[in-house]
Amino acid sequence: MAQKIQGTEDLYGGYMRSWQHMQDVARDLFGTYGFDMIETPAIEQVDTFVHGIGESTDVVRKEMFRVVSGALFENLLEAGTEKGLKPKQRMAMRPEGTAGVVRAAVENNFVPQGAAPAKLWYAEAMFRGERPQKGRLRQFHQVGVEWLGAADPAADAECIIMLMEFYKRLGFDPSKLRLSINSMGDAACRPAYREKVRQFIYDHKDEMCEDCLERADINPLRSFDCKNDHCREVMKSAPLVTDNLCDDCREHYEKVKKYLDEAGVAYVEDPTLVRGLDYYTRTVFEVEATDAGVGAIGGGGRYDGLMELEGGKPTPGIGFAVGFERIALALAAQGSTLETPEPECIYVAGTSAEEREAVFEATLALRNAGVRAEADYQGRSLKSQFKQADKLHARLCVVIGPDEVAAGEATLRDMDTHEQVQVPFESLADAVKARLA
Ligand code: AMP
Repeated sequence: MAQKIQGTEDLYGGYMRSWQHMQDVARDLFGTYGFDMIETPAIEQVDTFVHGIGESTDVVRKEMFRVVSGALFENLLEAGTEKGLKPKQRMAMRPEGTAGVVRAAVENNFVPQGAAPAKLWYAEAMFRGERPQKGRLRQFHQVGVEWLGAADPAADAECIIMLMEFYKRLGFDPSKLRLSINSMGDAACRPAYREKVRQFIYDHKDEMCEDCLERADINPLRSFDCKNDHCREVMKSAPLVTDNLCDDCREHYEKVKKYLDEAGVAYVEDPTLVRGLDYYTRTVFEVEATDAGVGAIGGGGRYDGLMELEGGKPTPGIGFAVGFERIALALAAQGSTLETPEPECIYVAGTSAEEREAVFEATLALRNAGVRAEADYQGRSLKSQFKQADKLHARLCVVIGPDEVAAGEATLRDMDTHEQVQVPFESLADAVKARLA
């Protein structure tokens, strides 16, 4: 039997309705904040991610699924190296949403000089070659937003406020969410800070893991969220970014916090919070469900340099992404669910094959009137049709037998009370709608 790839999932039934519900909530809420939906391709040039996410990140170095077209794949195997490939022949499945949206913004000039910001949201599958475990998949789904062209700290605060409202509307108990925030500085202050952290790691090299020593050269800040507990313990005494911010970054951070305080959004400051991707500047944030044990259920931050890295004009940006699968797990841990009930359905039952045509017409008439209707086309007995109606949670059943066909009326049966009334075929849809309302 063919099997799905480990770390991927089929979305169907209640789980699919949960994913759709999450998108509906996002569309509604983000719409009120002025965000429009965007969908970018699932494959992009590798360079789009390398420029944006950063060459030194785990995502780019280890987790990106690389793609080459079928014919080139054979050549690649023969050559044993991808050096002969042109940049546009080197592709990858998107591991996250921001780089692709920013690439699209540059390519389509979403933010012309002096224009209003572009506010975009997406709901897409992401792909990362990770070791699958609970809440960590190779294909997962994210809802995210990107706000391009706004530098003001009020935009950072609005983003965070909208994110926290999103969790609330998804059904989370806000008292069981922890929002962590930090500022990672910018091009003016981060290089010097990064140097201090690098020196700190060198000074403690006997206590750090191989990965951290390697990171010290390319991206020392990543040691703050090393998977190794001991490294994280050592890093607790490393210099903190919040003690090393330039005046502009400090002022920006203070204003973000002031806006959050004014909006009554609770947060904790975590000066060791460094998000995994290179492109973040200034504000970064992450949200965890404290009782779920599934890790971060969302996060984001400001990326004022990213548009330039993707070849555009200097344009500030901020955004976040929320993972669907972890949201579903975290809500389940809080005794809640994203799953919406199956929509109500009307069942049209015929007593024998003789009434097939009348059943067909009645079902069609109901659907044309906007009523969700289902009928039997397998020649089942009336009893098993009623059973099927129950399974579909049908509140009403339309029953059509030879007497009904002769009289030009259907029997409308209430499945709870078993009460029955006769309704002329031509007013069936109206009668059903009146009862459902
Ligand atoms: P990131 O882009 O790594 O900041 O991730 C944003 C959110 O996406 C996380 O908070 C998770 O909810 C979710 N996420 C990230 N990686 C995975 C994964 N491998 N499997 C499932 N969800 C993930």
